[in-house]
Amino acid sequence: MKRRIIVWFRNDLRLSDNEALHQACLDADEIIPVYCFDPQHYALTDWGFPKKGARAAKFIVESVADLQEAFSNKTVPLQIRLGDTSQILKTLADQWQTNLIYCAEEVTKEEKDLEINLADRGLQLRKFWQYSLYSKEDLPFPIDQMPEVFTSFRKKMEKQSEVRPSFPEPDVINCPNELKATPLPTLASLGLEEVEPDYRAVLNFKGGSLAAWERLNQYFWEEDRLKEYKITRNGMVGQAYSSKFSPWLSTGSISAREIYWEIMRYEEERLKNSSTYWLVFELLWRDFFRFTALKEGQRFFRIRENPAFQNLPKFKAWCLGETGQDFVDANMKELLHTGFMSNRGRQNVASYLVHDLKIPWYLGASWFESQLIDYDVCSNYGNWTYIAGIGNDPRPDRYFNVPSQAERYDGDRRFRMHWL
Ligand code: FAD
Repeated sequence: MKRRIIVWFRNDLRLSDNEALHQACLDADEIIPVYCFDPQHYALTDWGFPKKGARAAKFIVESVADLQEAFSNKTVPLQIRLGDTSQILKTLADQWQTNLIYCAEEVTKEEKDLEINLADRGLQLRKFWQYSLYSKEDLPFPIDQMPEVFTSFRKKMEKQSEVRPSFPEPDVINCPNELKATPLPTLASLGLEEVEPDYRAVLNFKGGSLAAWERLNQYFWEEDRLKEYKITRNGMVGQAYSSKFSPWLSTGSISAREIYWEIMRYEEERLKNSSTYWLVFELLWRDFFRFTALKEGQRFFRIRENPAFQNLPKFKAWCLGETGQDFVDANMKELLHTGFMSNRGRQNVASYLVHDLKIPWYLGASWFESQLIDYDVCSNYGNWTYIAGIGNDPRPDRYFNVPSQAERYDGDRRFRMHWL
């Protein structure tokens, strides 16, 4: 009998640097690759908007389409399903007579609950750590002794650890002959409305590895922007001020490690300076929040209970960019119409919500979760609790004075005029 393994794609929608896929191809005679669109991820939240909104969903559908295309170039039909993930995986396992599933390791509650559910159904999961720059195995401390403060974490990682090489894309992928191609869902089938791209967006973001590598080539090699990243990264207008890698990192269409090795190549072939270092530095922030989530478990979310919040119109005005604070409103409109916002914008609108409007931070985090095309559970909740001053490195000084920030970063009002 043939040994078969289901490869379950989560937020790792790529063929290269994908250890779960790589190892499954070595261990199995045939693999069954699958992606599940779970209606739970698109359902309405307590606040009346979808957990994942239309722009974010569209980006994921495009990313899965790109993965489907990459598999089909290897004559393998990616199985795309819409429905309850654990039920779908159980059905597939029964159909193909295997109980082995290879997948990426997640760290947060909903994702881990799903893994428990799968185990309860008799499925055996083998999980691979493949979202961060550094491997979990290479942490120079036990996870329960992970530093609370980013700078200590960064220094330890830089001194005592190394980034591993990326895994190559498998040359040949075998799957059962009877595996049939399956269609992508429409946004309507996820309960969402169609959305059109907005010409004012910093970039015409399209999901998938192909587009991720096109962006990297543009930013690093064609336009040679990496050398000035440290100076431009606080910008807000246009594609050039920062890498814009985050949407593709969030779906895993490109890995942090793949980006890292391209930075190393750039340093060798073009130049090495504080900007090339700084992009790695920012990728380390991403690792910091993921490893912190791993360490803290459910405590990472800092939500003990959701106290009833009475002033929803005030929150709605913030979501729609109608607070009357023009710098906040311009940023919130950018998010609403494009699914993206600069880091400077995110810091300001988050601080404004929490410290000026006195609205509970998790409402803002929930709106970001719904709207951001680069939503990442660890980066989003980690940054929100950090700004709310209740993260694992709490300090009272995480207040952004919005008018003075607007003056400093949008003194000529170019950004605000773009959006208002
Ligand atoms: P660049 O400046 O080019 O940075 C390169 C990469 O480094 C980014 O793509 C990202 O992966 C990582 N990075 C940079 N800054 C941070 C940071 N502060 N935290 C974690 N990783 C970072 N980022 C997300 O990817 N998903 C989120 O859901 C998310 N939510 C956020 C919520 C708030 C309130 C704040 C303040 C920040 C949030 N960020 C989030 C971090 C940051 O704003 C974005 O990663 C960045 O703006 C994306 O643009 P870029 O790819 O051009 O970044």
